[in-house]
Amino acid sequence: MRVGVHVSIAGGLPAALERAKRLSCNTMQIFSRSPRGGPAPVLAEADVRAFQSGRQAADIQPLVVHAPYIINLASPDARMHAQSVRLYREDYARCATIGAQYLVTHVGSHRGSGEEAGIARVAEALNETLAHDSPVMVLLENTAGSGQGLGERFEHLAAMRAGVKQFKRVGVCLDTAHTFAAGYAIHTLEGLEQTLEQFDRLVGLEHLKVVHLNDSKVEFESRVDRHWHIGDGKIGLEAFRRIVNHPKLRDLPFILETPKDSDEDDPRNLATIRGLCAEHRSATHARAR
Ligand code: ZN
Ligand code: FE
Ligand code: FE
Repeated sequence: MRVGVHVSIAGGLPAALERAKRLSCNTMQIFSRSPRGGPAPVLAEADVRAFQSGRQAADIQPLVVHAPYIINLASPDARMHAQSVRLYREDYARCATIGAQYLVTHVGSHRGSGEEAGIARVAEALNETLAHDSPVMVLLENTAGSGQGLGERFEHLAAMRAGVKQFKRVGVCLDTAHTFAAGYAIHTLEGLEQTLEQFDRLVGLEHLKVVHLNDSKVEFESRVDRHWHIGDGKIGLEAFRRIVNHPKLRDLPFILETPKDSDEDDPRNLATIRGLCAEHRSATHARAR
C-alpha cells in the first residue's frame, strides 16, 4: 500500500523529505509555501535536486502538493478571484519545479453568488491554469459542505471537470472526513459501496487519484470539517479497514492529515492504517518467516 502523511516544509524541502522518511512513508503531501499566504520561499535548485533524488531513492511516490487555503477560485469578487488565480497558477508552476504529480485544490466558496456561478468560475480558473502543457494534475478535493462552500456533492466536482478543456488533467482527491461530514455514509458497509457507486456514476472512479485518510471528530452529515485520529472518531476503525482494503481504493495513495499534537501522533496513525491493511500484514508476516 501507498501511505504517507502531510509533512511540514519548515526548514525547506530536504527537511520535509527527512520527516517523511523518518515515518517510513512511501507517498507524501506538502505545501509548496505557507498555506495562509505571504511570499513563496524561493526553490533553490540544489534543494530541489536533493529532494527529487532522495524521494526516488526512498521510493516516495507520488508527491502531492496541497494548494494554499487562502485561494478561492470560486470567488465572485473580481479582485479576489484574479488574485486567487494568480497565486494558484504560481503554485501549479511550483509543483512542476519540485516534481509533484498532483496539486490538491479546495474548490472554494461562491460567497452567496450561487453554486452554478461558483462552479463556472472554478472551471474558468482551471482553464487559465492548464492552458500550457504540464505533467502536473489538478485534483479537486471534496469538502464537508459548510456555509457557502462548493464541492461537497460529487455533482459539483463533475460539473467543474466538465467545464475544463484540459479535463484529462483534472482528477479528484476524496477526503474521508469531508465525505462523511457531507452525508455520504462511508462508515457503513453498504454506505461505502453506495458512495463509490455514486462517485463512479457522476465522476468516474478512474479520476480518483488520492484519498485523504482522516477520521472525523464530528457526527455524520454534520457539514463540519474536523479531522481526527484514525479509529478514534465517528467513522471508526472498521470503516477504515474496509476503505484501505477496498478493491477500488487499495491501490490509491493514502495521505493522513490527522492532528499532530505530539510527536507520537503521526507514527500512531500510520501504524493503525498499516495494521488494517491486509496486504501490508501478509508482507510483514512473510518477511518474518
Ligand atoms: Zn484539503
Ligand atoms: Fe484533505
Ligand atoms: Fe479538512
